[in-house]
Amino acid sequence: MADFGDSGLDAFRAEARDWLEANFPASLRKDLAALEAMVMSPEPPKGDFALWKERMGAKGWGVPTWPAQYGGGGLSREQARVLQQEMAAIGAVNPIVGMGVSMFGPTLLEYGTEAQKQKYIPDIVHGRIRWCQGFSEPGAGSDLASLQTRAEDKGDHFLVNGQKIWTSGAQWADMIFCLVRTDTTKKHEGISFVVFSMRQPGVEARPIRLIAGNSPFCETFITDVKVPKDDLIGPLNGGWSVAKRLLQHERSGMDGARRGPAQKVILGQVAKRYVGEDDQGRLADPDLRTRIVMNEMDQAALQATVRRAAQEAKGNSGPSATTSIMKNANMKIAQDRAELTLEFMGHQGLGWEGQDFAAAELSAVRGWLSGKAGSIYGGSNEVQNNIISKRILGLPDLTQSR
Ligand SMILES: Cc1cc2nc3c(=O)[nH]c(=O)nc-3n(C[C@H](O)[C@H](O)[C@H](O)COP(=O)(O)OP(=O)(O)OC[C@H]3O[C@@H](n4cnc5c(N)ncnc54)[C@H](O)[C@@H]3O)c2cc1C
Repeated sequence: MADFGDSGLDAFRAEARDWLEANFPASLRKDLAALEAMVMSPEPPKGDFALWKERMGAKGWGVPTWPAQYGGGGLSREQARVLQQEMAAIGAVNPIVGMGVSMFGPTLLEYGTEAQKQKYIPDIVHGRIRWCQGFSEPGAGSDLASLQTRAEDKGDHFLVNGQKIWTSGAQWADMIFCLVRTDTTKKHEGISFVVFSMRQPGVEARPIRLIAGNSPFCETFITDVKVPKDDLIGPLNGGWSVAKRLLQHERSGMDGARRGPAQKVILGQVAKRYVGEDDQGRLADPDLRTRIVMNEMDQAALQATVRRAAQEAKGNSGPSATTSIMKNANMKIAQDRAELTLEFMGHQGLGWEGQDFAAAELSAVRGWLSGKAGSIYGGSNEVQNNIISKRILGLPDLTQSR
């Protein structure tokens, strides 16, 4: 990667455009929704999508700002923004995604040893392995530090026993980053952060079926699993700080900055098909029209705020407690949007299956149901409000939750 310096953004834009033109397969440019579905699919990549993933992995542009020494793009934030713009211009989507990229990788870059970074970061950069998050337990959700999964010191390794729950993607994951108890006499200071393979005897992931019909997460049972001490991330009994940092990275991915296919739909236009137009070509129902416009304005305001917060942080400090504000705002906007969609679809928005309903109608009701989880995962709305009051507003600390 050439060094363009801060003044070389135009040169970088030209390089990015040329590279994308040469490397983003033409067959993937036809259908953005299909490409986004391939990115999110748990199935192994195939055909031109596999080629695209391989090329982006080799270039390091799936994680553009990560250090080049581990295979990352080594780009500045400004260059990464230019890359994003150029990708959007030709309908390209980043194929390197998942918890390795959004949560574990950035945390490991901060807390890992050199050997751990060398061992794990390159596979994340290439999107070769899938990670899952073993934090929550049946008795430890919001009060995460109550976790009981035990890691006993056996000399050169820990022996881990316990149960995790709500482990997203555990049934497809190769590796887990996991919080374990290494000292039973202390609460927060008795927690350590370890990683281990999901593909070994003693690890069992049982999918849980959601009300929306799919099974995105699992109960994960861990029985006599040996974890080499080399795979302890951060200090022994110092895992709570590592976990809190990881949760900030997790929430920063829920801030609404990246609009998925559902957010790109112009609600007002879809609503006209169901509600009709008035004589000025506007949505016929003025009250619904007002609420849709307010929702779209909230979404635009949130995106502007997220961009401003990123600029004010000058890219130096990474995510902070403000991610809790963005997460709550984004989830509220998304849930309101799902409500509005069902409202204007009327009976057509209540179908579960069958030929009387269009695909968008069937996915509207499933989206409405699964969207309820947005104010729970990554820490519930109430827990984010506690963080905002404690860490941003400086109110008295009355809770010990995540
Ligand atoms: C779709 C989905 C995916 C998930 N994926 C993962 C994953 O991959 N890995 C993982 O480890 N976990 C995952 N989770 C778990 C998630 O982090 C927890 O569900 C969440 O932290 C809440 O914990 P809980 O379910 O035990 O609820 P509880 O902690 O029992 O909370 C119940 C209710 O009490 C409220 N409450 C609790 N404490 C307080 C407080 N101090 N102040 C005010 N209100 C409070 C909560 O807001 C909530 O409304 C996922 C959850 C969902 C829904």
